[in-house]
Amino acid sequence: MPKITFLGAAGTVTGSKYLIEAEGKKLLVDCGLFQGSKELEQRNWDKLPVDPAAIDWVLLTHAHIDHTGYLPRLMRNGYHGPIYSNAATHELCALLLPDSAYLQEEDAAYAAKKGYSKHKPPLPLYTVPEAQETLKQFCVIPRAGAFQISPQFSVRSHDAGHILGSSWLELTVTEGGKQTLMAFSGDIGRYDQPILKDPEPPTRADYLLCESTYGDREHPTGSVEDELADVINDTVKRGGAVVIPAFAVGRTQTLMYFIRELEEKGKIPRLPVFVDSPMAISVTSLYMSHHEDHDAEFTKMEQPGMPDPLVCADVHMTRTVEESKKINDVTSPCVIISASGMITGGRIKHHLAKRLPDSRSTVVIVGYQAEGSGGRLLLDGAKFLRIHNEQIPVRAKIVEIGQLSAHAGRSELVRWLSGFQAPPKQTFLVHGEPSGLNGLRDAIASQYRWPNVTIPEYLQAVDLL
Ligand SMILES: [Zn+2]
Repeated sequence: MPKITFLGAAGTVTGSKYLIEAEGKKLLVDCGLFQGSKELEQRNWDKLPVDPAAIDWVLLTHAHIDHTGYLPRLMRNGYHGPIYSNAATHELCALLLPDSAYLQEEDAAYAAKKGYSKHKPPLPLYTVPEAQETLKQFCVIPRAGAFQISPQFSVRSHDAGHILGSSWLELTVTEGGKQTLMAFSGDIGRYDQPILKDPEPPTRADYLLCESTYGDREHPTGSVEDELADVINDTVKRGGAVVIPAFAVGRTQTLMYFIRELEEKGKIPRLPVFVDSPMAISVTSLYMSHHEDHDAEFTKMEQPGMPDPLVCADVHMTRTVEESKKINDVTSPCVIISASGMITGGRIKHHLAKRLPDSRSTVVIVGYQAEGSGGRLLLDGAKFLRIHNEQIPVRAKIVEIGQLSAHAGRSELVRWLSGFQAPPKQTFLVHGEPSGLNGLRDAIASQYRWPNVTIPEYLQAVDLL
């Protein structure tokens, strides 16, 4: 009988990897990197419990590194089969995987300099050329509809509304003539958000794997536009800059959309807006070019003669370091959007070194901030932030706008699950911290009373009867 093994995102949010076996063939759904604690990241170095050379196919839900970042490592260790994804996911991976490799190399070089690595000499998990090699294995599958991988596996993709190209997948597994229908949620996005379509509802599955990132939490309600307008207007009054650390994929594009809307409605003055991240600039053009992902409202804005919906009146896309440095000379009110989103690296650090000591400025935190990250420290009221070995005083105003998450909140996950016309035979809750997993389990118990809702453990294997 077919079997599933949970090789990641079991009891945690990262490292998504699910091995499905049928008739002796092996399919890996997602191939993510573990991120976060040292203990979790060690798993990226441990031997995979299955020989990568014995895996026949890889299938991806979306491009985020916690779903794709292990691919070059899988290939280094012997995988040589195709990697199936839609076109947008492939193109995003072409930006994200080499960037992930670059960060690995940088970390290894830093560890070598500081002499703290246990690998001697310190090694990256994989290199930029290895990430480039991985991209050659991608095979593009349709954005929607069915695709036959083999006699054992056939997949149907549906919009997940999380980031560009994100899908939830229906996998039909055939063994000995018997079909088993599995649904993989991937990461479920938000409803009624700009740019991307809403998550498509599921209808049926024998086995469901559902993400639980926000299984215990709701996003704040209220209008992002109004909050953003208040923050920008307040900062303009003080004569300062609005600095927004933002992830390159998704958040930056949503922010640009809202700022342009606010300008057009006359709710904020037209300000210089600097998008200072080469990755964010490249991702933005991918967001514009993949029309198949756009919702009806966004599609209407794309008619000939209409202004670009992701371009504000006075936008400056800065790719080079010189252009980036020149933003320091801007003394009038402006908006600066730069990566990384958690202030763990990237150009945002330079902007904060300049703007944090200025009480006229505002730093807007728009995404999840991990424990210990610069963004978390600011939210917790730090008086100083260590940037490039200097203690920078925090005099700027720190504001959080929590509605911009790309992940469904608890009631949005429950709404997505309401699509099922009958309870799945078994539901596996994955991709969550214990509180998120338990929260979603409780929500399913009280709303739907489904039988067999379980939280699998790392490396657990389950027969699919
Ligand atoms: Zn994701």
